[in-house]
Amino acid sequence: MPSMRDDLALFGGYHSPQVDVEVRLNTNESPLPPSPELISELQAAMGQLALNRYPDRTATRLRASLANLHQVDPEEIYIANGSNEVISTILLAYGGPGRKAMTFEPTYAMYAQVAKVTSTELVEMERDSDFGLEMGQVLKAYSRSRPDVIFFCSPNNPTGLDEDPEIISALAENPNPLIIIDEAYGQFASFSAVDLAAKYPNVVVSKTFSKVWSLAGLRLGYLIGPKEIIANLWATCLPYHIDSIKQAAGVLALSKLDAMQNTLDLILIGRQQIESGFDALEVTYWKSSSNFILFRAPKGKGDELWQALVDRSVLVRNCSGWPRLTDCLRVTVGTREENDRFLKALSQALAELRS
Ligand SMILES: *Cc1c(COP(=O)(O)O)cnc(C)c1O
Repeated sequence: MPSMRDDLALFGGYHSPQVDVEVRLNTNESPLPPSPELISELQAAMGQLALNRYPDRTATRLRASLANLHQVDPEEIYIANGSNEVISTILLAYGGPGRKAMTFEPTYAMYAQVAKVTSTELVEMERDSDFGLEMGQVLKAYSRSRPDVIFFCSPNNPTGLDEDPEIISALAENPNPLIIIDEAYGQFASFSAVDLAAKYPNVVVSKTFSKVWSLAGLRLGYLIGPKEIIANLWATCLPYHIDSIKQAAGVLALSKLDAMQNTLDLILIGRQQIESGFDALEVTYWKSSSNFILFRAPKGKGDELWQALVDRSVLVRNCSGWPRLTDCLRVTVGTREENDRFLKALSQALAELRS
């Protein structure tokens, strides 16, 4: 057998277990499919594509549409196959052997995963017990380790909490580190770091079509940031990595802002519905700025509660075995009916566990 790189050999990779259930609230996707108009327009657009030819390498039209959405220059946009690939390209270009990336834990596991694969040393700073960050502590941790790349996630997955823009700005005053703010759930948040990316030469913001745009299956994400950094990412990625169909689909999706806005409204109402349900059931949870909510099972019962929900055909993310998240589960906001099913299953499961 060929042997894998020693530093990866015992490494299982990233997993999000799927179970066959009726109500799937475990991966933070949109509960709604893309609109029928988008699908039929995409079908028509596909008829016009010259698929025998390589795609437009830098996705000119899609970049222009994204630039227009965010009121930035097209040269300030890098595009990839999902924001996970954006993260990967960033660490290929700015991480690697001899370099360090910093994360604030708990946070999105992909940063650590990509650091590992790119041989970037990972420096994990702990959040406080409420999952917040304190300015003095962050600056101290930065001075101690001098990372080359710093990952913020706002709102943070899996806690659902916004990052503090003042902490990001304070770090950005140091010219050396590249600071990424992952805004996969940015539409739900109370602030966006896109303005910071315009102000600082070392701040970039990643976004995705996988959540409120209802297009997780499309694999499309992008980064907004200073031209020089963006040019370096285009130079680092593989040629023709954004296929023609995806480029066309992205442009069409962006022409349907209303559909996205409607999904957003539905999810915000659903989030309120679930948080009210938690209040009624006296469940501990973290008030979310996102489309998912982190909550805590009775002490020592995280796995049992997760299983009891699965037994009722409701799947949420089991974080209870993750470091710092003992007994925590994470539920994605679904449709009204799915949220009802979840709350009913939760109520029954808790009654069972508490008795
Ligand atoms: C879901 C999610 C993403 C999205 O990744 P894609 O590759 O764009 O699907 C990125 N960051 C965070 C924090 C997420 O939770």
